[in-house]
Amino acid sequence: MLKRYALILFAAVFGLFPLAVRAGFQPKAELVTDNVYAIVGPLGQRSADNDGLNANFGFIVTPTGVILIDSGASRLGAEKIAAAIAGVTKQPVRWVINTGSQDHRWLGNDYFAGKGAEVIALARTAATQAEYAGQQMESLKRFVGERIKGTQPLPAPKTLAGDSATLELGGETLTLTYTDAHFPGDAWVWLPKHRVMFSGDLVYVDRLLGVLPWSSVKSGQRAFHALAALKPARIVPGHGRVCDLAQAQRETGDYYDFLAGKVGAAAREMEPMDATLDRYADLSAFRHLENYGELHRANMNRAFTEFESQ
Ligand SMILES: [Zn+2]
Repeated sequence: MLKRYALILFAAVFGLFPLAVRAGFQPKAELVTDNVYAIVGPLGQRSADNDGLNANFGFIVTPTGVILIDSGASRLGAEKIAAAIAGVTKQPVRWVINTGSQDHRWLGNDYFAGKGAEVIALARTAATQAEYAGQQMESLKRFVGERIKGTQPLPAPKTLAGDSATLELGGETLTLTYTDAHFPGDAWVWLPKHRVMFSGDLVYVDRLLGVLPWSSVKSGQRAFHALAALKPARIVPGHGRVCDLAQAQRETGDYYDFLAGKVGAAAREMEPMDATLDRYADLSAFRHLENYGELHRANMNRAFTEFESQ
């Protein structure tokens, strides 16, 4: 008996306990409107504490089950999302829609599929998930360490053809449309009845958006203009607090317009890149956003390269 307690104590101290104390961040659901909820993650980097949930997710409660938008970055992250949903409804997650192929959009798919959910995405989103799976797992492991355990990449098994597709699930209408901004194959989910936009990684507020080597400023600008034309009442951005169109315009739309307009124009005119980046290093419209210091110059650099090669 004593031996068994000693063993349990040993396991607690050296095995399970460190996991439990490091698993501090538990996301909560917040009401957006009607039966539509957002789960807003922290603005900083992925960590063992937040299980890679440094992004936003959302769900719609219907009489026949829950529609979840994006599944979290890992199995443990998906469990935290499931706990946030369970705080609102006893309904099971019946459908998972993925808006992208970055880790926090889909590496929790396998967990929800194992509970019986159908996982759905536009075809190019699922193809990009398959293509980037290895790379996403590797980089996630660097941030969450052993807490990646149990995570199995599952690209969305049900794919939808076309550049835009409309689904009717549990009496709700959802339209998925490609944005191709942050990652190729990224999409938004628009709920016309509620006028709510789940933008995926097209819209960032409170923090500066990131332009990655595989991002497209041109696509981001085009997609943001299309989003604005829909006049959403509420936007659940990819990162940052739930917002209105005016804030999304100031913190994402205007930034894409700046990158395409000023930096893109300089690149097309074959002006020197360094002088261009220096000229626009300090922008009062955006410098209050988190991560500005780390990202702004690299963002301009990538925008310049994209427009230079056109
Ligand atoms: Zn993201």
